[in-house]
Amino acid sequence: MKKEKAIVVFSGGQDSTTCLFWAMQQYEEVEAVTFNYNQRHSLEIEVAEQIAKEQGIKHHVLDMSLLNQLAPNALTRDDIEIEEQEGELPSTFVPGRNLVFLSFAAILAHQVGAKHLVTGVCETDFSGYPDCRDVFVKSLNVSLNLSMDKDFVIHTPLMWLDKAETWELADQLGQLDYVKENTLTCYNGVIAEGCGECPACKLRQNGLDQYEAKKAAQV
Ligand SMILES: [Zn+2]
Repeated sequence: MKKEKAIVVFSGGQDSTTCLFWAMQQYEEVEAVTFNYNQRHSLEIEVAEQIAKEQGIKHHVLDMSLLNQLAPNALTRDDIEIEEQEGELPSTFVPGRNLVFLSFAAILAHQVGAKHLVTGVCETDFSGYPDCRDVFVKSLNVSLNLSMDKDFVIHTPLMWLDKAETWELADQLGQLDYVKENTLTCYNGVIAEGCGECPACKLRQNGLDQYEAKKAAQV
């Protein structure tokens, strides 16, 4: 374990919770940051708070409600349906969201003296978010370092993992059941197994089924 400090961009979902455990294994000091942009379900903030508390992690909640002002969409507005259409960005898309989140996370990291930034973005389940691409994260890393004259390192442990492999990582970290039972991924605000119907639930469940089938085949 490195005697260094990391900030995890944390939403209380499967991916960022797995990243939180990953960071806790790597770094002596870990803090989490959650962005409040009037998510469809304020429950997301509560879930993140609860997990951070249970894991003894210092938790920062930053107000990002201006994002909703700029980009009203299905994640922040109850009156817009969540839909995904072939070849189009899903209606959950907020342009530049990851750019904004990572930049604010870096400012926070500067304030609290953290060198490492950890985010659960991933290209594999790429739903078309350009600022979740590896090349973008690397480019932003350079820009952030130049902007603050720092040597931050942005880590993306899930960048090349599919959902099944993300479950596998949680298992390797000894946290499969915890992630399964305590995280919120569902667009309809149902913790753990979720509603089973929304795109996020389907992706999560398919990944888990795949990983469990693989694990069963190895025994
Ligand atoms: Zn759901």
